[in-house]
Amino acid sequence: MEKWVEEAVVKPRPSSVVAEPPKQGLWDTVLTQLDEAAQRLKLDPGIHAILRQPERELTVAVPVVMDDGQIEVFTGYRVQHSSARGPCKGGIRYHPDVHLSEIRALAALMTWKCAVVGIPYGGAKGGVRCDPRQMSQGEIRRMTRRYTAMIMPIIGSKRDIPAPDVNTNAEIMAWIVDTVSMLERKTVIDIVTGKPIPLGGSVGRKAATGLGVAIVTSELLKRKRRKLSETTVAVQGYGNVGSAAATILHQMGCKIVAVSDISGGLYAPQGLDIASINQHVAAHPQRLLEGYEASGVEKISNDELLTSDVDVLIPAAIEAQIRADNAPYIQAKVIVEGANGPTTREADEILHDRGIIVVPDILANAGGVVVSYFEWVQNLQCFYWDEAKVKRNLKRIMVRSFKEVWDFSQEQQEPLRLGAYMLAVDKVANAVRSRGTFP
Ligand code: NAD
Repeated sequence: MEKWVEEAVVKPRPSSVVAEPPKQGLWDTVLTQLDEAAQRLKLDPGIHAILRQPERELTVAVPVVMDDGQIEVFTGYRVQHSSARGPCKGGIRYHPDVHLSEIRALAALMTWKCAVVGIPYGGAKGGVRCDPRQMSQGEIRRMTRRYTAMIMPIIGSKRDIPAPDVNTNAEIMAWIVDTVSMLERKTVIDIVTGKPIPLGGSVGRKAATGLGVAIVTSELLKRKRRKLSETTVAVQGYGNVGSAAATILHQMGCKIVAVSDISGGLYAPQGLDIASINQHVAAHPQRLLEGYEASGVEKISNDELLTSDVDVLIPAAIEAQIRADNAPYIQAKVIVEGANGPTTREADEILHDRGIIVVPDILANAGGVVVSYFEWVQNLQCFYWDEAKVKRNLKRIMVRSFKEVWDFSQEQQEPLRLGAYMLAVDKVANAVRSRGTFP
């Protein structure tokens, strides 16, 4: 036996064997939202019970040889909430807070999201509990390959198609393609979306979620007869979603007055220079805002960003950022949820009572999965679109979906979130019913 294996067996790292934290928050919220929609729709109790449970949950142990030769065993998950409307679809995240109930909630959100925008997928999500900021590229690559091998029994182009999410990207998707192709002894590029373009990725996928956020923001402002050029915006989270949303809204004429990431925030009441911020982030080794300096730009905390004096607030970082403790102080008139589950249930009620409009995650951030769907279609057909076609089709779907949710919510006199849930749950329930799962 080689030396590193012997050492590894006797010296597992304590951090890799920590128990799962007992966190139910987002799953409870998602279930409550489903229950409310089911009640309003007078949904058959049997179908309601089917939708309250994920179809399949897989927990896997992911042993990785770290750079120092020791083995660390990470815990990973893949949850498939519903395949009633089509193959399951959902991202993979790498984060220290990943746990089963969070992944379960995110999988259910994917089911509703695909239904709201009318693309033929069910919902899934995956993740590995790890801190990628403390890991080398090699460690992340080895972890990705092992995690992929462990979830392979349940993923597949017509079963469940992963994609990037928090702390995963096109490069990681390419490693997944390679692992599956190696093990299946053929090239399998339609196993994931969000791939690099030379490997069958779609043009326009990277900025798609941010573009979708910008499109629904602009549709909402139109309904409120508010000009983009008179609108101020704050964006929390400057990763894939947040940076694209800020950049596109800035190009559309909005004034981006605050942005933040894990390293803190920047605020300039006269408007931030988004191009120079993007240059700074691109050059930063960890792609952070940290260290950015410009005249008239103040440093603020994430809490200050959330309660800053703006028209539109876009939470685009992680879940549970807008809570009962800060919701009473939010000054934005509109919140567009770039992240999944950024608003807790208690905060949602406070915002509603205060007359703040919330465009829910299942509609606002659906642009990513819509272009992932385009990527999958292009892979299946081996025929590739140009950027103009991707953007045109994305815009058509986002504008139509926003209109459906807006009109229905107005008609029902309900908040946009409940309206979106009612439309989505009804579509999924119809699929379950017509397949005859429930007699
Ligand atoms: P990302 O990893 O690219 O970016 C996340 C950003 O949030 C980073 O700038 C990070 O520094 C920041 N952040 C993390 N924790 C924070 C905190 N506590 N306070 C402030 N900032 C913090 O991830 P992403 O792909 O942009 O995803 C962001 C959110 O959008 C997630 O909720 C994800 O599920 C959701 N989402 C992503 C996509 C997609 O296409 N990537 C699609 C739909 C929804």
